[in-house]
Amino acid sequence: MTRTYAGEDVVDRIIISEEAITERVAEIGTSITREHDGHEIRLVTVLRGGLFFLCDLCRQIDLPLTVDFMAISSFAGGTGGSVRITKDLDDPIEGARVIVVEDIIDTGLTLNYILSVMRQRKPASIEVCTLLDKDVRRIVDLPIAHRGFSVPDRFLVGYGLDLDARLRNLPYIATVREGAAVTGGPVVAPGT
Ligand code: 5GP
Repeated sequence: MTRTYAGEDVVDRIIISEEAITERVAEIGTSITREHDGHEIRLVTVLRGGLFFLCDLCRQIDLPLTVDFMAISSFAGGTGGSVRITKDLDDPIEGARVIVVEDIIDTGLTLNYILSVMRQRKPASIEVCTLLDKDVRRIVDLPIAHRGFSVPDRFLVGYGLDLDARLRNLPYIATVREGAAVTGGPVVAPGT
């Protein structure tokens, strides 16, 4: 029986299935385990979208690890260059092997800002792991150590990615129908 999800009637097409995500996340977890063999790592993600990927990824990594979270708001509206930290990491990262776990990199401006903030805190190393890479839209060149899938320049939802703060719970990645909006209560904060 196919499971249905509230609000998914706005979905146009599933471009990455739940099974494909599970398989790729396991592969990335294996690579991270191999590359950081013998070391403790710190997984850091940006709330809220990256949380879903981080939860699955950390369970595919066979290393001592800790997790920490940051939240930001883009005050230019949508994706863009003006970013402010609204919740900082709880723990210092000095001397830590940091892996920044992202749901999607689009222009790269948000991540570029986050990396510049983190580098000032002198981690032992810092690398980027993103599930999705909308590489055709990239403005800032960023080093990406682990990449799940390259995706087209379409608005995507599911597996952490929202439409009006909803649909993050879809277990797959999908495009939405033109002009789609999810009905529900008031949205308190724009999704990141
Ligand atoms: P960037 O600064 O790289 O342009 O923007 C990255 C952020 O934009 C992501 O973390 C995500 O919040 C948002 N974003 C970019 N593309 C998409 C998309 O296709 N769907 C959704 N829901 N958010 C996106």
